[in-house]
Amino acid sequence: MDHFELRQGSLHCEEVPLAAIADAVGTPVYVYSSATMLRHADVLRAALEPLPDPLIAYAVKANPNAAVIATLAGAGLGADVVSGGEYRRARAAGVAAEKIVFSGVGKTAEEMTLALEGGLFQFNLESLAEAEMLSEVATRLGRTAPVAFRINPDVLAGTHAKISTGAADNKFGVPIADAPAAYARAAALPGLEVQGVAVHIGSQLTDLAPLEQAFFKVGALIAELRAAGHTIRAADLGGGLGIPYDPSAPPPPSPEAYGAMIRRVAGGWDARLLLEPGRLIVGNAGVLLTRVIRVKPGARHPFLVVDAAMNDLMRPALYDAWHAIDAVSPRGGRETVNVVGPVCETGDTFATARDMDRTQPGDLVVFRTAGAYAAAMSSTYNSRPLTPEVLVDGPRWAVVRERVDIERLIAGDSIPDWLPRPPCNTGPSR
Ligand SMILES: *Cc1c(COP(=O)(O)O)cnc(C)c1O
Repeated sequence: MDHFELRQGSLHCEEVPLAAIADAVGTPVYVYSSATMLRHADVLRAALEPLPDPLIAYAVKANPNAAVIATLAGAGLGADVVSGGEYRRARAAGVAAEKIVFSGVGKTAEEMTLALEGGLFQFNLESLAEAEMLSEVATRLGRTAPVAFRINPDVLAGTHAKISTGAADNKFGVPIADAPAAYARAAALPGLEVQGVAVHIGSQLTDLAPLEQAFFKVGALIAELRAAGHTIRAADLGGGLGIPYDPSAPPPPSPEAYGAMIRRVAGGWDARLLLEPGRLIVGNAGVLLTRVIRVKPGARHPFLVVDAAMNDLMRPALYDAWHAIDAVSPRGGRETVNVVGPVCETGDTFATARDMDRTQPGDLVVFRTAGAYAAAMSSTYNSRPLTPEVLVDGPRWAVVRERVDIERLIAGDSIPDWLPRPPCNTGPSR
């Protein structure tokens, strides 16, 4: 469920007409609903009741905007971070150190130092080599690092190959068969305190069976590790629950069904449970608002050229993702079109042969379900300004990332001395 609705023929985010935001900020622009994010956090929390004190660590990579993190931190969520930058963003937005989990296969000594000095709930280690590096760093700093190993359970997540992470040939985690030896080694390393087990098998999962299979393996591993003398206080079940993108496709499992499965499989583990949802919290809480530039005839269907492009919303080009596309003020009637952006790549195609609201040049349209892995992956490819972001809360709204315009992009480059200076004042000034 989300808070983007037609009111008197005009699409609103909560109580704010999207047209008013487009007029004030320009397009393209991402618009997020606070109420939708908070509702998703509440629904997930309710689905886990009565588990004692689960830690819901929002996966910051899904949408790292400071205002988004601050909204969720205000609702008591922690953060799952995968880089020093995300760690700093989470802290700067108000996430308590003891609610931060540090994931990722390539943590550097600098990133480990940052999190050890700032504090965190645990590092999710992805290899023994990483455990050894963390042991060195922690020992040097005179600190103890709380750790879990991320286990690769070798299950097929059944999602897009580029977002599957729990199969044996993926780069993620320690193979489950090697886990007992990894824990034995880590327990013997100075500066580490083994406290948990972690798993995360992929994203946009539309079936609970692979998750349940992975959790079942984690449960068995926890028993084995405890029998070997390890203290396992925390079990991190990762994120990955899918969300509805296409209303005509079968809906993914509900948060209620997901929570019930977790309570059934993991409720008796006598460990604090952690979840790392990203998409589930923010996916349906955002839209990308864009304007039709023109309509160009096509061989089979006309091309609707909009002012957003693959640099703003990469998911269709990267994952063949499907986003609903709707007019902000529907004129009535439908048409079949190809929806494309202005970037010079054929991959800059949002939809092919899409049946959608009839539009004219100048009309506003939205790409729905664009709150996760959308602005987060945006770039300035084709020297396009970095798209701004707006947060709505009831009748209020604010720009929470300003448009990074072309002047700032040009100013970020510099021309070295050995090249001819620009003839006029269009170059960087010294
Ligand atoms: C990306 C990621 C998540 C979040 O995945 P969603 O599908 O957005 O819920 C959680 N944990 C880890 C380790 C991740 O890499």
